[in-house]
Amino acid sequence: MKKLFRAIALVLTFVMLGILLGGCATTPTVDKIKEDGKLVMLTNAAFPPYEYTSGGEVAGIDVDIAKEIAADLGVKLEIQDMPFEGIINAIKSGKGSFGAAGMSITEDRKKNVDFSIEYAQSKLFVLVTDTETEIKTPDDLNDMTIGVQTGTTSDTYATDVEGAQISRYGNFLDAAQALKSGKVRAVVVDELTSNEILAANPELVRLDEPLADEGYAICVQKGNTTLLDAINATLTRLIESGKIQEFMDNNVTGLAESSEEPVG
Ligand code: GLN
Repeated sequence: MKKLFRAIALVLTFVMLGILLGGCATTPTVDKIKEDGKLVMLTNAAFPPYEYTSGGEVAGIDVDIAKEIAADLGVKLEIQDMPFEGIINAIKSGKGSFGAAGMSITEDRKKNVDFSIEYAQSKLFVLVTDTETEIKTPDDLNDMTIGVQTGTTSDTYATDVEGAQISRYGNFLDAAQALKSGKVRAVVVDELTSNEILAANPELVRLDEPLADEGYAICVQKGNTTLLDAINATLTRLIESGKIQEFMDNNVTGLAESSEEPVG
């Protein structure tokens, strides 16, 4: 009888252990990705030319890179479009294989995810309307209403501007609309996306002086070294062969081509 109790207790312990482990975040290692046959990219498809929608599909520099990573691993690529500010937490909890969203490397983000090597350099710029007379340099932003995309480095930067009121939008394209309609006096946004916004909105201009220098990288769950190594190997190949530059050139008019996200 005692033996039976012991056996039952042992089985129960294993069942509980299984439940506990099952509840923990799963790690999309290279083995798991190959087993599933797919790589899941988390992004926010409203950041041209890095990601945008074109003909109902998500396209962009990051998508071109992700396709290469998937091809190198011999699996198919699945893209999930989600709010930018949710990407880090999603990757942390094992939803999706990696985040690729023109994401700037920051010390704060490094506490929650691991970053690949840097694959692009960028700057933050200030956009204003062509009738703006008071904002001539970034120092003139004090006490102004600034439009940003929630959870971005622009958000962090603008939040530190003395006396400024921050209006947060789901994406930079909406922030640009708010600037056009006079709801905000300035928008802080990444370089290439600012080019796209300016090309589609002739009434907006950019201040010459940039606010910050940043580098973009792909993020994975902390400690997911097999996937990080695979991503870095593909990125190194793409950087050295000039492919990333080619992707940049090919996607630069993304917004103008997009039928879903017209700005203007
Ligand atoms: N590079 C900026 C950041 O990482 C914006 C990225 C984005 O909006 N997709 O915060």
